[in-house]
Amino acid sequence: MATQTAQTVLVTGASSGIGQGIAVAFGQQGANVIINYHSDEEEARNTLQQVEAGGGKGIICKADVGKEEDVRRMFQEALDAFGTVDVLVSNAGIQKDSAFSEMTLEQWNKVMTTNLTGYFLCAREAIKIFDQKPTPSPEDKAKGNIIFMSSVHDIIPWAGHVNYASSKGGILMLLKSLALEVAPKKIRVNGISPGAIATDINADVWQDEEKKKELMKLIPYKRIGRPEDVAKVANWLASPESDYITGTTIYVDGGMTLYPGFVDNG
Ligand code: NAD
Repeated sequence: MATQTAQTVLVTGASSGIGQGIAVAFGQQGANVIINYHSDEEEARNTLQQVEAGGGKGIICKADVGKEEDVRRMFQEALDAFGTVDVLVSNAGIQKDSAFSEMTLEQWNKVMTTNLTGYFLCAREAIKIFDQKPTPSPEDKAKGNIIFMSSVHDIIPWAGHVNYASSKGGILMLLKSLALEVAPKKIRVNGISPGAIATDINADVWQDEEKKKELMKLIPYKRIGRPEDVAKVANWLASPESDYITGTTIYVDGGMTLYPGFVDNG
């Protein structure tokens, strides 16, 4: 049930996959959730239904996170609906894969604009709202939380996906530098880097038995992740339970970043 202290959480790319799972998980905690979507209004409404079924409140908001005017409007709609924003989960992301020598500038720019510039634009609007709240005393909890959805490819190189890996590597330093800048104002900025989570973005892999078998070799924990695996971490990072954590990335990857080639099967 929503209480007076319910958090207001804006989740980008919340009409599918990880973003949908995160929005629903915050709904189950009684949060007010701004459900951003790019084009699939029906699935955004589905997310909203699930948020409300879990005890939260919400609105859906169509916006392209790579467009400054869209992002400004989205945060204004959040303020109009709920009066503030406490948590930003910047999650919307895309892949436009290509061999490097054949990669078009359009493929490069599209990925950078959504995955990196979009995170900058959303975080900037969130910080402006956080800045309007009084700065708590050092002993109090944070007045705002930002969570960036990165990827294991912020540290694992990925041939054939140089634009995507570059955008995620950029997020790693975006979040650390921003965390340093805003920590004195009691704003926290953290990242989540998923490994392989079964969603639309990688359906071609987990729906194909051969490709799935190959993927399993990269996951020491021997299962593909689920949006809920990531959502639980997002809930925790947005809660006072993790109050002393900022500038950190949590890898939710079943061990994918542990150099799986060195596993001892013997
Ligand atoms: P997904 O394709 O289901 O979700 C991506 C969402 O972003 C979609 O809802 C899409 O509509 C939205 N989106 C795309 N462009 C947008 C734009 N310009 N403005 C607003 N929204 C836009 O895939 P997902 O797996 O849920 O991906 C979510 C995030 O998790 C992405 O940042 C992705 O890079 C990251 N990630 C996913 C995995 C995985 O295995 N699924 C692994 C590592 C990182």
